[in-house]
Amino acid sequence: MSESCLFCEIAARRIAASVVYEDDAVMAFLDINPLALGHMLLITKMHYETLLEVPKQAFSALFSAAQNIAAVQMKTLGAEGINWLQSSGTAAGQEIFHFHIHLIPRMSEDGVGWNWKPTLYETPDECDQLANLLKENLK
Ligand SMILES: [Zn+2]
Repeated sequence: MSESCLFCEIAARRIAASVVYEDDAVMAFLDINPLALGHMLLITKMHYETLLEVPKQAFSALFSAAQNIAAVQMKTLGAEGINWLQSSGTAAGQEIFHFHIHLIPRMSEDGVGWNWKPTLYETPDECDQLANLLKENLK
């Protein structure tokens, strides 16, 4: 646990949150600044700052909980889709440095969106070369 970490405090129940799901490893609660009603944050109970620090054995609990949460958002809220958003690092927009996944219920024409500007590869070779570089450096 990290001192003065908001999500550690929520996980320890020292700060109140509208908790929807909890098990030994993860907790999900409503985001108090939702992009849509029912927008949830799924956190690890242990303090890990970014995706790169989360131990691989934690992903089973995270993915299982995320799937259940997405299902209940669709069933209970009538969501037509779910966005799963995870930001790791300041450049990616991470503001609270305790690993979390946003699970955002979506409806057609709900007006929620991102300013997503695609970047193009100049040639198919450039794309293949980058894929090979990443492949060579994959642990
Ligand atoms: Zn924390």
